[in-house]
Amino acid sequence: MADTDTRPGEWDGDEFNGWRFIPHEGVQEPKEDVLDEQVKVWVARSQPRDKHTGSIAFDISFNVGTKNESLSRVSIRELMDLEDNSFPYEEVTEAVNDWIEKAKLFPHTRRKCLCCWKKATKGKVLCQGCHTKFGEVIYADYA
Ligand SMILES: [Zn+2]
Repeated sequence: MADTDTRPGEWDGDEFNGWRFIPHEGVQEPKEDVLDEQVKVWVARSQPRDKHTGSIAFDISFNVGTKNESLSRVSIRELMDLEDNSFPYEEVTEAVNDWIEKAKLFPHTRRKCLCCWKKATKGKVLCQGCHTKFGEVIYADYA
């Protein structure tokens, strides 16, 4: 992400002013060691919810930049690593910490539990039942 050497006033004639995707031509064989980096987690201001459990869901692109790119909606419950008390993706951890922070700042705002349709405990992001089950994971990385 280094700045280009373009000096002020110089114009290279390119009409495109934003970021663009430049396909890496010539590299056809999949690199298995970089699979982890080919995942993109989409975080929106208003996250979708899983229609069965009511838990918050993340849209995650897998195999980004390859022919196998796919987008899946994954519920936060499926992303939890209950043994490790963590989430596999930084973006998810950040989003969760952000919600915790908001809940703390605005304890009187009514919000739903991150893991079900129930009302969250005041100033928290989980309801009582989910706190017992998922509280350790949800609040684990919160600093
Ligand atoms: Zn709940």
